[in-house]
Amino acid sequence: MSNLQLYAHAIGYPAEKVGGWGIEMRWELIPKPRSVFLRVKCLKCSNEQIVFERTSSYVKCTVCDELLARPAGGKAKIRGEVLQSLS
Ligand SMILES: [Zn+2]
Repeated sequence: MSNLQLYAHAIGYPAEKVGGWGIEMRWELIPKPRSVFLRVKCLKCSNEQIVFERTSSYVKCTVCDELLARPAGGKAKIRGEVLQSLS
């Protein structure tokens, strides 16, 4: 299993789709192999959910739809309370 496939697995992206990507995308996607998941608590309704630290999409609370994280180039900007890092 390549690093890229491992990474894809970590973000829940189907590995088959990753296979077609070029080498450039590969380097762009893995600046450092240190990405983690964060346990984030929604400030509005106190729901806890797991957010990928380097998410490239907007993450909303599954309960109240409050924005929990937004992409910011590298690490996401977390808007909720970070309770724990899961590496
Ligand atoms: Zn919420």
